[in-house]
Amino acid sequence: IDTTVQQDMEKLQHTFPHFQDEYRLIKRIGEGTFSTVYKAEDLRYDYYINNWDIDADDGQWTPPPLRSSSASHLNSAARRKPKFVAIKKIYVTSSPARILNELELLHDLRASPSVCPLITAFRESDQVLLILPYFRHQDFRKYYPKMNIYDTRVYLRALFTALAAVHARGIIHRDIKPTNFLYDPDKKRGVLVDFGLAEREGTDTKPCLCHEDRQVRKHRLQQSVAFNSIHTGLQPGYPKQDTRPSRRANRAGTRGFRAPEVLFKCTEQTTKIDIWSAGVILLTVLCKRFPFFNSADDVEAMIEIATIFGSKRMRLAGQLHGCMFDATIPTISSQGFSFEKIMLWSTCRSDGGRDGSANALTPEEKEAVEFLSRCMDLDPTRRISAEEALQHPFLMVDSD
Ligand code: ADP
Ligand code: MG
Repeated sequence: IDTTVQQDMEKLQHTFPHFQDEYRLIKRIGEGTFSTVYKAEDLRYDYYINNWDIDADDGQWTPPPLRSSSASHLNSAARRKPKFVAIKKIYVTSSPARILNELELLHDLRASPSVCPLITAFRESDQVLLILPYFRHQDFRKYYPKMNIYDTRVYLRALFTALAAVHARGIIHRDIKPTNFLYDPDKKRGVLVDFGLAEREGTDTKPCLCHEDRQVRKHRLQQSVAFNSIHTGLQPGYPKQDTRPSRRANRAGTRGFRAPEVLFKCTEQTTKIDIWSAGVILLTVLCKRFPFFNSADDVEAMIEIATIFGSKRMRLAGQLHGCMFDATIPTISSQGFSFEKIMLWSTCRSDGGRDGSANALTPEEKEAVEFLSRCMDLDPTRRISAEEALQHPFLMVDSD
């Protein structure tokens, strides 16, 4: 282990009283924007013997076994089997409100087997530690190139099962991406982690046009176009010519996974933003390209999406949220490209027979692409929900 990691681990052990009696730090397993995560052995045997047990493999709480005397249990093999935990050290630069939010949401989701539960948490002045059961998983970069359609179905079913549980509680995760869905391809199980950016649907929202019906939307848009041309005497739509106060919307998330309505600064975002991000993961797996989108900022992200969907559909998508979309970039065509074409190109199958027969997608792949188009619908109100997705033929799969 390199010395700075070693030093950080030493420091952590000495910040919290009794830390060394309760946990043995093993290694650093993650370093993100908001935290460092370590793998550790949980030494609190008594805690487990006297309390409910937690199975790190499936994240389920189970009561302790019934036994005649605790002494015999202490001698059992189970007692010596190490229990691993993930210790998430939140950076001191995180606001207390944010940390509390993550703790509260995890508490709300404690009954969901596909969300990594919180065992406990500690605070020592400005330092906060979350203790989670360690979940064995593999690196997405390692397994996605080898995933066939069956593996893809099983993986997505696990992801959408987790999303359905989170969304049923009215919670938006906001940062769905491979590193926040810990998946074990051998066991075909996965859990969602990292609720640091998550929020309850409906907090901090202001009415957005996308929630109005079509007629109302059309009328308001015409009004705003008229307003703009009267007040500026210029064509509407360009930021520098727009005299209205700039819009503020939650943009939290990871570039490349942000839904179009987040880019268009929709002020009434819903759980559908997570579905788009899950769609981007599916696109990655089908096209075998990671990261699929590689934009440096929101404007570039819009250009990437517009390249696929074409300027016409992109313009309509913007209008949903009262935004004008206009692009003069030659690579953005009016109609864009179908996901089927994109998949064939990315998997180098577009140079087959003249009649196209050699390039065709298999019926299974076609079903995958159809499901993908339901997840990556530019219109959040038409995009499939997690609950509906679980009923879609693509996710109707038996993984046992
Ligand atoms: P951050 O907010 O810094 O992204 P995360 O909660 O996403 O923090 O954790 C970062 C990484 O740590 C994850 O991508 C994963 O590799 C690892 N990790 C987090 N929780 C667990 C866990 N319960 N079991 C195993 N590894 C974990
Ligand atoms: Mg993370």
